Amino acid sequence: MTNQALTFAASGTRSSTETGEPHIEVSNLTMAYDGFVIQTGMNFKVRRGEIFIIMGPSGCGKSTLLRHLIGIKAPSSGSVRFDGLDLWGVDHETRDSLLLRMGILYQSGALWSSMTLAENIALPLSAHTRLSKKEVAELVSFKLSLVGLSGFEDYYPAEISGGMQKRAALARAIALDPEILFFDEPSSGLDPISAGRLDELIVHLTESLGSTAVVVTHDLASILEIGTNSIYLDIETKSILAEGPPGDLLEISSSQNVRDFLSRGQGQKTRKTPPEHHQP
Ligand code: ADP
Ligand code: MG
Repeated sequence: MTNQALTFAASGTRSSTETGEPHIEVSNLTMAYDGFVIQTGMNFKVRRGEIFIIMGPSGCGKSTLLRHLIGIKAPSSGSVRFDGLDLWGVDHETRDSLLLRMGILYQSGALWSSMTLAENIALPLSAHTRLSKKEVAELVSFKLSLVGLSGFEDYYPAEISGGMQKRAALARAIALDPEILFFDEPSSGLDPISAGRLDELIVHLTESLGSTAVVVTHDLASILEIGTNSIYLDIETKSILAEGPPGDLLEISSSQNVRDFLSRGQGQKTRKTPPEHHQP
Protein backbone atom coordinates (compact mmCIF):
# COMPACT_ATOMS: atom_id res chain seq x y z
CA MET A 1 0.00 0.00 0.00
CA THR A 2 1.43 3.36 -0.93
CA ASN A 3 1.15 6.53 1.06
CA GLN A 4 -0.88 8.20 -1.60
CA ALA A 5 -2.91 11.30 -1.08
CA LEU A 6 -6.50 10.50 -0.45
CA THR A 7 -8.73 11.34 -3.33
CA PHE A 8 -12.41 11.64 -2.83
CA ALA A 9 -13.22 10.47 -6.30
CA ALA A 10 -16.84 9.80 -7.04
CA SER A 11 -17.40 6.12 -6.55
CA GLY A 12 -20.17 5.59 -9.04
CA THR A 13 -22.43 2.62 -8.61
CA ARG A 14 -20.73 -0.37 -7.10
CA SER A 15 -21.70 -3.81 -8.21
CA SER A 16 -22.43 -6.70 -5.92
CA THR A 17 -19.55 -9.15 -5.61
CA GLU A 18 -21.74 -12.19 -5.72
CA THR A 19 -18.94 -14.47 -6.72
CA GLY A 20 -16.78 -13.49 -3.71
CA GLU A 21 -16.36 -16.11 -1.00
CA PRO A 22 -18.28 -15.60 2.25
CA HIS A 23 -16.34 -13.54 4.76
CA ILE A 24 -19.08 -13.77 7.35
CA GLU A 25 -21.75 -16.44 7.38
CA VAL A 26 -24.71 -16.18 9.73
CA SER A 27 -26.80 -19.34 10.10
CA ASN A 28 -30.11 -19.78 11.91
CA LEU A 29 -29.24 -16.96 14.28
CA THR A 30 -31.70 -16.03 16.99
CA MET A 31 -30.90 -12.90 18.99
CA ALA A 32 -32.55 -12.30 22.35
CA TYR A 33 -32.19 -10.30 25.54
CA ASP A 34 -33.16 -12.28 28.64
CA GLY A 35 -35.29 -14.61 26.56
CA PHE A 36 -37.02 -11.76 24.70
CA VAL A 37 -36.45 -12.51 21.02
CA ILE A 38 -35.36 -9.58 18.84
CA GLN A 39 -34.80 -11.45 15.54
CA THR A 40 -34.99 -15.14 14.70
CA GLY A 41 -34.04 -17.53 11.88
CA MET A 42 -31.45 -15.16 10.44
CA ASN A 43 -29.45 -16.49 7.50
CA PHE A 44 -27.14 -14.40 5.34
CA LYS A 45 -23.63 -14.18 3.96
CA VAL A 46 -21.35 -11.18 3.69
CA ARG A 47 -18.94 -11.73 0.83
CA ARG A 48 -15.40 -10.44 0.58
CA GLY A 49 -15.13 -6.88 -0.69
CA GLU A 50 -18.79 -6.10 -0.21
CA ILE A 51 -20.21 -3.03 1.45
CA PHE A 52 -22.99 -4.82 3.24
CA ILE A 53 -25.81 -2.73 4.67
CA ILE A 54 -27.91 -3.75 7.67
CA MET A 55 -31.07 -1.69 7.50
CA GLY A 56 -34.49 -1.47 9.05
CA PRO A 57 -36.51 0.75 11.35
CA SER A 58 -35.32 1.93 14.74
CA GLY A 59 -35.42 -0.87 17.30
CA CYS A 60 -35.42 -3.77 14.80
CA GLY A 61 -32.09 -5.08 16.09
CA LYS A 62 -29.43 -3.60 13.81
CA SER A 63 -27.02 -2.68 16.60
CA THR A 64 -27.79 -5.96 18.35
CA LEU A 65 -26.82 -7.86 15.19
CA LEU A 66 -23.59 -5.90 14.99
CA ARG A 67 -22.82 -6.88 18.58
CA HIS A 68 -23.19 -10.54 17.56
CA LEU A 69 -20.87 -10.06 14.58
CA ILE A 70 -18.10 -8.35 16.56
CA GLY A 71 -18.02 -10.79 19.44
CA ILE A 72 -19.76 -8.71 22.11
CA LYS A 73 -23.02 -10.64 22.39
CA ALA A 74 -23.46 -14.41 22.07
CA PRO A 75 -26.28 -15.88 19.95
CA SER A 76 -29.33 -17.22 21.70
CA SER A 77 -29.02 -19.96 19.07
CA GLY A 78 -27.38 -20.36 15.67
CA SER A 79 -23.90 -19.37 14.56
CA VAL A 80 -21.74 -16.56 13.24
CA ARG A 81 -18.84 -17.78 11.12
CA PHE A 82 -15.91 -15.57 10.29
CA ASP A 83 -13.77 -17.00 7.49
CA GLY A 84 -15.33 -20.38 8.23
CA LEU A 85 -14.59 -20.28 11.98
CA ASP A 86 -17.48 -20.24 14.44
CA LEU A 87 -16.91 -17.01 16.35
CA TRP A 88 -18.80 -18.31 19.38
CA GLY A 89 -17.63 -21.92 19.15
CA VAL A 90 -13.85 -21.41 19.11
CA ASP A 91 -11.71 -21.01 22.24
CA HIS A 92 -11.08 -17.56 23.71
CA GLU A 93 -7.62 -17.26 22.21
CA THR A 94 -8.84 -17.97 18.68
CA ARG A 95 -11.78 -15.62 19.15
CA ASP A 96 -9.50 -12.82 20.33
CA SER A 97 -7.28 -13.30 17.29
CA LEU A 98 -10.36 -13.20 15.02
CA LEU A 99 -11.56 -10.01 16.70
CA LEU A 100 -8.20 -8.37 16.03
CA ARG A 101 -8.94 -8.78 12.32
CA MET A 102 -12.00 -6.54 12.67
CA GLY A 103 -12.13 -2.76 12.89
CA ILE A 104 -15.09 -1.02 14.45
CA LEU A 105 -16.41 2.52 14.19
CA TYR A 106 -18.98 3.02 16.92
CA GLN A 107 -21.97 5.32 16.64
CA SER A 108 -20.51 7.89 19.01
CA GLY A 109 -17.04 7.77 17.47
CA ALA A 110 -15.78 7.26 21.02
CA LEU A 111 -12.36 8.92 20.82
CA TRP A 112 -10.73 9.56 24.19
CA SER A 113 -11.26 13.26 24.77
CA SER A 114 -8.20 13.66 27.00
CA MET A 115 -5.89 12.28 24.31
CA THR A 116 -4.68 13.81 21.06
CA LEU A 117 -5.66 12.18 17.78
CA ALA A 118 -2.19 10.63 17.54
CA GLU A 119 -2.47 9.17 21.05
CA ASN A 120 -5.93 7.78 20.27
CA ILE A 121 -4.75 6.05 17.11
CA ALA A 122 -1.56 4.82 18.76
CA LEU A 123 -3.57 2.95 21.42
CA PRO A 124 -4.36 -0.22 19.43
CA LEU A 125 -0.90 -0.16 17.85
CA SER A 126 0.86 0.00 21.22
CA ALA A 127 -1.45 -2.65 22.70
CA HIS A 128 -1.23 -5.21 19.90
CA THR A 129 2.09 -4.73 18.10
CA ARG A 130 5.74 -4.58 19.10
CA LEU A 131 6.46 -1.53 17.00
CA SER A 132 8.86 1.11 18.32
CA LYS A 133 7.56 4.55 19.31
CA LYS A 134 8.94 5.98 16.09
CA GLU A 135 7.28 3.29 13.97
CA VAL A 136 3.98 3.84 15.79
CA ALA A 137 4.22 7.59 15.16
CA GLU A 138 4.88 7.00 11.45
CA LEU A 139 1.98 4.61 11.16
CA VAL A 140 -0.31 7.03 13.03
CA SER A 141 0.55 9.80 10.55
CA PHE A 142 -0.04 7.42 7.65
CA LYS A 143 -3.46 6.38 8.99
CA LEU A 144 -4.40 10.04 9.50
CA SER A 145 -3.38 10.78 5.91
CA LEU A 146 -5.66 7.97 4.69
CA VAL A 147 -8.67 9.72 6.23
CA GLY A 148 -7.68 13.18 5.02
CA LEU A 149 -6.34 14.41 8.38
CA SER A 150 -2.64 14.86 7.71
CA GLY A 151 -1.12 17.29 10.19
CA PHE A 152 -3.82 16.86 12.84
CA GLU A 153 -1.75 14.56 15.07
CA ASP A 154 -1.62 16.93 18.04
CA TYR A 155 -5.23 18.09 17.99
CA TYR A 156 -7.69 17.04 20.69
CA PRO A 157 -11.07 15.68 19.58
CA ALA A 158 -12.90 18.76 20.91
CA GLU A 159 -10.79 20.98 18.63
CA ILE A 160 -12.04 19.46 15.38
CA SER A 161 -15.46 19.15 13.72
CA GLY A 162 -17.83 16.22 14.14
CA GLY A 163 -17.03 14.94 10.65
CA MET A 164 -13.30 15.08 11.38
CA GLN A 165 -13.85 13.25 14.68
CA LYS A 166 -15.58 10.44 12.81
CA ARG A 167 -12.70 10.26 10.34
CA ALA A 168 -10.16 10.22 13.18
CA ALA A 169 -12.12 7.37 14.79
CA LEU A 170 -12.00 5.63 11.43
CA ALA A 171 -8.22 6.09 11.34
CA ARG A 172 -8.11 4.33 14.72
CA ALA A 173 -10.44 1.57 13.45
CA ILE A 174 -8.03 0.84 10.57
CA ALA A 175 -4.91 1.07 12.74
CA LEU A 176 -4.38 -2.69 12.68
CA ASP A 177 -5.27 -3.15 8.98
CA PRO A 178 -8.56 -4.94 9.61
CA GLU A 179 -10.07 -7.32 7.07
CA ILE A 180 -13.57 -6.25 7.97
CA LEU A 181 -14.76 -2.82 9.01
CA PHE A 182 -17.96 -2.44 10.99
CA PHE A 183 -19.87 0.83 11.20
CA ASP A 184 -22.84 1.64 13.41
CA GLU A 185 -24.77 4.62 12.00
CA PRO A 186 -21.56 6.33 10.79
CA SER A 187 -23.32 9.42 9.48
CA SER A 188 -25.53 10.08 12.51
CA GLY A 189 -25.11 13.61 13.78
CA LEU A 190 -23.28 14.77 10.65
CA ASP A 191 -24.42 17.36 8.14
CA PRO A 192 -25.11 15.96 4.64
CA ILE A 193 -21.78 17.16 3.22
CA SER A 194 -19.74 15.52 5.99
CA ALA A 195 -21.91 12.41 5.78
CA GLY A 196 -21.31 12.20 2.04
CA ARG A 197 -17.59 12.64 2.54
CA LEU A 198 -17.57 9.85 5.11
CA ASP A 199 -19.42 7.59 2.65
CA GLU A 200 -16.82 8.28 -0.03
CA LEU A 201 -14.12 7.49 2.49
CA ILE A 202 -15.77 4.17 3.41
CA VAL A 203 -15.84 3.18 -0.27
CA HIS A 204 -12.30 4.39 -0.88
CA LEU A 205 -10.82 2.67 2.18
CA THR A 206 -12.65 -0.58 1.57
CA GLU A 207 -11.26 -0.68 -1.94
CA SER A 208 -7.72 0.43 -1.11
CA LEU A 209 -7.38 -1.81 1.95
CA GLY A 210 -9.08 -4.68 0.15
CA SER A 211 -11.43 -5.08 3.11
CA THR A 212 -15.10 -5.85 3.59
CA ALA A 213 -17.47 -3.35 5.22
CA VAL A 214 -20.62 -3.99 7.23
CA VAL A 215 -22.60 -0.80 7.73
CA VAL A 216 -25.61 -0.34 10.01
CA THR A 217 -27.52 2.68 8.80
CA HIS A 218 -30.92 4.09 8.05
CA ASP A 219 -29.44 6.90 5.98
CA LEU A 220 -31.11 6.36 2.61
CA ALA A 221 -28.56 8.32 0.63
CA SER A 222 -25.81 6.12 2.10
CA ILE A 223 -27.69 2.90 1.58
CA LEU A 224 -28.31 3.51 -2.10
CA GLU A 225 -24.95 5.16 -2.80
CA ILE A 226 -22.49 2.76 -1.20
CA GLY A 227 -24.31 -0.51 -0.49
CA THR A 228 -23.47 -3.46 -2.72
CA ASN A 229 -25.70 -5.81 -0.77
CA SER A 230 -28.09 -5.51 2.15
CA ILE A 231 -30.56 -7.09 4.51
CA TYR A 232 -33.71 -5.53 5.89
CA LEU A 233 -34.72 -6.48 9.44
CA ASP A 234 -38.43 -6.41 10.15
CA ILE A 235 -39.72 -5.67 13.66
CA GLU A 236 -43.14 -7.32 13.39
CA THR A 237 -42.05 -10.68 11.97
CA LYS A 238 -38.66 -10.50 13.76
CA SER A 239 -37.00 -11.74 10.59
CA ILE A 240 -35.01 -10.71 7.55
CA LEU A 241 -37.68 -9.48 5.17
CA ALA A 242 -35.40 -8.84 2.20
CA GLU A 243 -31.85 -9.41 1.01
CA GLY A 244 -30.08 -8.03 -2.04
CA PRO A 245 -28.46 -4.93 -3.53
CA PRO A 246 -30.42 -1.95 -2.13
CA GLY A 247 -31.14 -0.47 -5.58
CA ASP A 248 -32.68 -3.78 -6.68
CA LEU A 249 -34.80 -4.01 -3.53
CA LEU A 250 -36.13 -0.53 -4.12
CA GLU A 251 -37.36 -1.67 -7.55
CA ILE A 252 -38.44 -5.24 -7.06
CA SER A 253 -38.82 -6.19 -3.41
CA SER A 254 -42.08 -8.04 -2.88
CA SER A 255 -42.38 -6.39 0.52
CA GLN A 256 -44.21 -3.07 0.65
CA ASN A 257 -42.42 -2.30 3.97
CA VAL A 258 -39.05 -2.60 2.28
CA ARG A 259 -40.03 -0.52 -0.75
CA ASP A 260 -41.54 2.16 1.52
CA PHE A 261 -38.40 2.21 3.67
CA LEU A 262 -36.19 2.65 0.60
CA SER A 263 -38.34 5.30 -1.03
CA ARG A 264 -38.97 7.62 1.92
CA GLY A 265 -38.86 11.19 0.73
CA GLN A 266 -37.84 10.12 -2.75
CA GLY A 267 -39.96 8.56 -5.48
CA GLN A 268 -42.85 8.06 -3.13
CA LYS A 269 -45.30 10.95 -3.35
CA THR A 270 -47.41 11.14 -0.24
CA ARG A 271 -49.17 14.28 -1.49
CA LYS A 272 -52.75 13.43 -2.35
CA THR A 273 -53.83 14.29 -5.86
CA PRO A 274 -57.22 16.01 -5.91
CA PRO A 275 -60.08 13.92 -7.30
CA GLU A 276 -60.87 14.59 -10.90
CA HIS A 277 -63.78 16.81 -11.59
CA HIS A 278 -65.95 15.34 -14.23
CA GLN A 279 -67.78 17.89 -16.25
CA PRO A 280 -71.30 16.85 -17.01
P1 ADP B 1 -31.60 -0.75 16.35
O1 ADP B 1 -30.12 -0.63 16.39
O2 ADP B 1 -32.11 -1.42 15.11
O3 ADP B 1 -32.31 0.56 16.56
P2 ADP B 1 -31.22 -2.29 18.77
O4 ADP B 1 -30.43 -3.45 18.32
O5 ADP B 1 -30.51 -1.21 19.49
O6 ADP B 1 -32.06 -1.71 17.55
O7 ADP B 1 -32.39 -2.80 19.71
C1 ADP B 1 -33.30 -3.83 19.31
C2 ADP B 1 -34.25 -4.11 20.46
O8 ADP B 1 -33.53 -4.67 21.56
C3 ADP B 1 -34.96 -2.88 21.00
O9 ADP B 1 -36.26 -3.24 21.34
C4 ADP B 1 -34.16 -2.52 22.23
O10 ADP B 1 -34.98 -1.90 23.19
C5 ADP B 1 -33.69 -3.89 22.72
N1 ADP B 1 -32.40 -3.81 23.42
C6 ADP B 1 -31.27 -3.26 22.95
N2 ADP B 1 -30.26 -3.40 23.82
C7 ADP B 1 -30.78 -4.08 24.89
C8 ADP B 1 -30.23 -4.52 26.14
N3 ADP B 1 -28.94 -4.32 26.44
N4 ADP B 1 -31.06 -5.18 26.97
C9 ADP B 1 -32.36 -5.41 26.65
N5 ADP B 1 -32.94 -5.01 25.51
C10 ADP B 1 -32.16 -4.35 24.62
MG1 MG C 1 -28.81 1.04 16.66
